[in-house]
Amino acid sequence: MADPERYDGSGIHPEAQRERRTDLLSLTPEDLRDRVGHFMGSRHEPVYRVDQVARWVYGGEARSIAEMTNVPHQLRTELDRYFTLDEPEPARVSRSADGTAKHLWRLRDGELIESVLIPTGDRLTLCLSSQAGCAMGCTFCATGWAGFSRHLTAGEIVAQFRASRRWAAAEGHPAVSNIVYMGMGEPLANREPVMASLMILNQGYGVGARRITVSTVGLVPGILDLARRPEQFRLAVSLHAPDSELRRRLIPLEQRHPLPELLAALRTFDAAGGKRITFEYTMIKDVNDDPALAVRLATIAAGLQAFVNLIPYNPTPYRNWQPSPRERIGAFRKVLAECGVNCAVRAPRGRDIDAACGQLRARALTSLAVPVEQQGEQQDAKRLSE
Ligand code: SAH
Ligand code: SF4
Repeated sequence: MADPERYDGSGIHPEAQRERRTDLLSLTPEDLRDRVGHFMGSRHEPVYRVDQVARWVYGGEARSIAEMTNVPHQLRTELDRYFTLDEPEPARVSRSADGTAKHLWRLRDGELIESVLIPTGDRLTLCLSSQAGCAMGCTFCATGWAGFSRHLTAGEIVAQFRASRRWAAAEGHPAVSNIVYMGMGEPLANREPVMASLMILNQGYGVGARRITVSTVGLVPGILDLARRPEQFRLAVSLHAPDSELRRRLIPLEQRHPLPELLAALRTFDAAGGKRITFEYTMIKDVNDDPALAVRLATIAAGLQAFVNLIPYNPTPYRNWQPSPRERIGAFRKVLAECGVNCAVRAPRGRDIDAACGQLRARALTSLAVPVEQQGEQQDAKRLSE
């Protein structure tokens, strides 16, 4: 039985109220001022209480409302009835020989996701997940093979940043300088929470829009949405093939948003001004690495003044594909450069801990970690052996 003294006259049962609580991590500074301001105002609390809560949230120090120690105890208890501040639990940290660190986070409902910290000189890039799993099913990607579980909330995306930033500081890393939405999931398939998280990271935590990159496999409505926004968030497009036929073999979404439609959306994005596009091109031996394809890619990239990242394919357990050999990547790159396209070959980071692009597959790994007799209902283990 709930304590009748905890009824607040709203007519809402305390347990039901708990379910309706607002996640502080999912609020932009403006929304937080509104919501927490209303809460404090209705209790005749001074305005500086709102600032205190905002500092605990965006300063990143509090891992729960209970940790907001300069807010009176009774008020924290009250806050806790209307708001939540949940950080994921670190289930595991894996460290690569190259300094890359991968976190496996357990969310409130037990769902597992991964994020990756990549140090490069004085930069520290954080790679965030936007979904638990991914529904896009790209044939070269371990996340795609592991299947889709659910969308993340804006607060769950932001929480990865807060927890990673705190961990990095404790490990003596520099501050997180760049954020890429290149972990698990397709960000533009989870549009509203992802857009909210972009605003929160930018306005609340002060990460410059040009230092945040959203990577998409080509969801046109989301690209057009980003194009309309005034902030200059960067866009990376996972192209992987310069023609529809080849792209269809790699990316099922090509059926829904074929290349010509995608390129039209990118022209709109480009015309919005000041927003740079990067093409990601995973180089798979004898699949998409013919230099003739580089000429076609160059035509596309040049038209959009896009930068091209060539990423050697990171082997996954699902396909018998190999990364393109170094000389093959070099030849491909040379063609692009001769056509005046800016490009770089990206060295894989964190491969030894399965943290490299396309290797995140928390769910599949977890299903392997549970005893065999409990694996009946878990499809992932089966898929791993396919
Ligand atoms: N869903 C988004 C973002 C996550 S994937 C997207 O696809 O863009 C991040 C990047 O890793 C994408 O460019 C994706 O194409 C690439 N990738 C996926 N599997 C890979 C693999 N096995 N080797 C190299 N890159 C891969
Ligand atoms: Fe999803 Fe991106 Fe992997 Fe495709 S490459 S399955 S969109 S995470």
